[in-house]
Amino acid sequence: MHVLVIGAGQLSLMLAEAGSRLGIQVDRLDPFSGDLRHGTSLDVANYDLDTLLARADILTAEIEHLPDNALVQKLMSAPRFPGARALRLIADRLPQKQLLDELEVPSAPWLNCDSASALDQATERFNGEMVLKRRRGGYDGRGTLLCDSDTPRPGDDWIGDTIVEQRIPFLRELSIVGARNNKGECVFYPLTENLHRNGILRLSLAPVAVPEVMQRSAEDSLRKIMSALDYVGVMALECFDTGDQLLANEVAPRVHNSGHWTQAGTDICQFALHLRALTGLPMPTPTVFGPHAMVNLIGTSFTDALQYSAGHRLHWYGKEPRPGRKVGHINMENHSADALRQHAHALLNELLEQD
Ligand code: ATP
Ligand code: MG
Repeated sequence: MHVLVIGAGQLSLMLAEAGSRLGIQVDRLDPFSGDLRHGTSLDVANYDLDTLLARADILTAEIEHLPDNALVQKLMSAPRFPGARALRLIADRLPQKQLLDELEVPSAPWLNCDSASALDQATERFNGEMVLKRRRGGYDGRGTLLCDSDTPRPGDDWIGDTIVEQRIPFLRELSIVGARNNKGECVFYPLTENLHRNGILRLSLAPVAVPEVMQRSAEDSLRKIMSALDYVGVMALECFDTGDQLLANEVAPRVHNSGHWTQAGTDICQFALHLRALTGLPMPTPTVFGPHAMVNLIGTSFTDALQYSAGHRLHWYGKEPRPGRKVGHINMENHSADALRQHAHALLNELLEQD
């Protein structure tokens, strides 16, 4: 089996790693440069696109924000790409929010911010407590503007291809990662608690102790979204826990940073699960081994990463460290969820001091 991944970053690298344990060859294609890498190799191989497509049994993507070039246009219309529809829709926050509304998946109240009067209307309706989000291209907090009643009116560049949401006073951020295969079968991991700083995920803790009904409600929401899009593979749903309910924040049609703990914390990690779903391999519900945490390394140097990860599991992506750049992560475990939370926060604080 050959799986062609659009995107050549760390998510594709970890898919390739998981593929090697399932006898699945993963090719990673950089959609900007057209460079191809086989498996976990860092060397670039040269193929013309037709040969590449002929070689691929199935296509998938590790990012939803793809360049609008001839290569991507051809890939998006290729056969055997079961995630293409979801990718197209989710890459734009406007149809994404519309889909959540249609499916009655609760999410933050919102408006299409396509004019100055729409922004005025939102400011009044949400009493200035709002979040502006560019429809396309946002990630790690880029393309997002948090406003409160004391913030001056956002500049005019926030009017147009933008949506505006009510700012939710959430207790915490949670996410659910699950997968659907082409028979419509779905499996899910337990809810994960996520801590962000400046819009970037820094720490995940799983499984979260939540009432069964909350886990079921998250699963139902994600199942509805995957089914509506006839999606195949792993998908993540980021949520706000308001205390009374879960509100969907955004959908990611791919393996997700908040699912990295599954590499150490389950018998089938999200990368293996994605490949199983795509290639029609059996997809049992993953077994969870106990409390696990994932701490992101943002702009950390390799030698520091080795120090910080002593006694834990380091994943290093081989990228040049730059401020704000995800260069690796550390998976940690502890039989006590409280002790794990403490250790993970201590590590995060050490890392934040280096920022
Ligand atoms: P990602 O990198 O996960 O794709 P993103 O930058 O594209 O993230 P969001 O996840 O929508 O965008 O927003 C980034 C963060 O901003 C959220 O994790 C949350 O902390 C905060 N945020 C977003 N929307 C709201 C909201 N409606 N109310 C309060 N906080 C919000
Ligand atoms: Mg997000």
